[in-house]
Order: sequence, then C-alpha cells, then structure tokens
Amino acid sequence: MHNLLPGLRNFSEKVFPTQQKHFEALSQGQKPHTLLITCSDSRIDPNLVTQTKPGEIFIVRNAGNVVPPYGASRGGEEAAIEFAVDGLGVTNIVVCGHSQCGAMAAIANDVNLDKMPSVKRWLDHAQSTRRRMADLPGKCDLHDVVEDNVLVQVDNLKTHPAVSAAIRGGRVQVFAWVYNFESGSIAIYDPDAKRYVLSTEVREETVEDAARFAL
Ligand SMILES: [Zn+2]
Repeated sequence: MHNLLPGLRNFSEKVFPTQQKHFEALSQGQKPHTLLITCSDSRIDPNLVTQTKPGEIFIVRNAGNVVPPYGASRGGEEAAIEFAVDGLGVTNIVVCGHSQCGAMAAIANDVNLDKMPSVKRWLDHAQSTRRRMADLPGKCDLHDVVEDNVLVQVDNLKTHPAVSAAIRGGRVQVFAWVYNFESGSIAIYDPDAKRYVLSTEVREETVEDAARFAL
C-alpha cells in the first residue's frame, strides 16, 4: 500500500503557504478559461503541461478522453461539459489524447475486455474510432489511433447543444491535442494542414493567432 498522508501534511504545512494568496483569491469563485477533456492516465498532469495554476482549467478525465455523443450516456461528462460552457463560460475546450494510451491500445489491438465489462461498455463510445481505423488499411498503429480518437471525440463534443451553440455564437473555440509524455511535446491539430503540428513549431502568441487551430 502507498501511504498518501505524508504528502497531505507536506502540502498543508509547506506548499500551501507559498500559494495562500492565490487560493484566497479563488475563494471568491472560479473563472476557468479552459475546459480540458483528457485521459485518466496517471502520467498526465494537466496543470504541469499547460503551465497553469489552480482555477484556470476545468478538467474532465476518463479512460481514453472519451466524449460520449449528446444523450448517449447521460453521465458526468455531459453535465460537466454543459456546466463548463454555460455555467462557467469557458472560452476554450481542448480534447487531449496522449502517447501510450491503454484505452486506445485496447481499441487498436481489439483487446478482449470481457473481464472489465464497464471498460468495455465505456469504450463503445470510441467505436467510431475503431471503425475509422479499420477503413484505413496499413494505418492502425497506436499513435494513429490516439490522434484519430481525439478528432472523433471533438466531433462527439459538437453534438452537445451547449457546445454547438457556443461555437456558433463565437463564445468557444475547440482544439485537439495529443500529449507525448516521453518527449514532453504537445501536438496540436491544424485543420488547414489536416495534420498535427508540434506546439514548439507554432508561434501563435495571441488568441486571434491561435484561432487558426480551432475546429
Ligand atoms: Zn489514456
């Protein structure tokens, strides 16, 4: 067993005091700018990767960074997305996949999940990823599945009325990312080039510049 208690004590006694003012300001309420939908994988630290502080990103995590189409699950994802967009007024939504994703590996390799029926049911929401990959012979390695799945989930995201209305109203922009934790790189989907480009290769500094990656 791993004992988490020393970490809690260290946070309360040593880390929190260094950020106390920030947390006091957050007690007035949250106003995150971004809804990040990513995988539950323990190797992803969203605040570290985006260099953001508590209060900046509203996070939805699940196996495979899956967004069930609107009405398909009536689950927590649907409520969190609606709340982020209509309740909190986020202006960015990012769907972020990652390297070595176990959920996507299960899809790519058609792994038998009979012993994990809940996982199996959940990954049914990524079935269109599997079908799309099956249509592309010779293009079915894990990285391709990860990249393609993010785009599938972006399409699913747009079936949510709160999201589609916010996109139409110019209140929200949606982005597709893939995080490679081994190299520390983040690839952003470029809809004009129809491929992912590394964040280090783009020099879009302003919000207006970054809009060219909106999907
Ligand atoms: Zn994953």
